[in-house]
Amino acid sequence: MSSVPLPILFIMGVFFTFWLILRKFHRLEQKKRALPALDAYLQANGQTAPRCHACDADELKDEGLTHGKDERRIVSCARCSTLLYRIDPQA
Ligand SMILES: [Zn+2]
Repeated sequence: MSSVPLPILFIMGVFFTFWLILRKFHRLEQKKRALPALDAYLQANGQTAPRCHACDADELKDEGLTHGKDERRIVSCARCSTLLYRIDPQA
């Protein structure tokens, strides 16, 4: 038997799990914020209308950056869910 009481181990396990979830969420958040604007995306991929650069689908979906009503939109592929570009309301 280890000398660390079981409840302490349990609490540590819970905190570690939360830390992992938060870290994953934070990375996804950073990835979204680092996405190019539509103009830059089109230019980088030589496109005139936005398509998915991963699977070439033209069916895209957009969601708010932080929540559903966020005016900063993140556009991703409706077929393969690749993050594509962002739309800023002031741009
Ligand atoms: Zn795709």
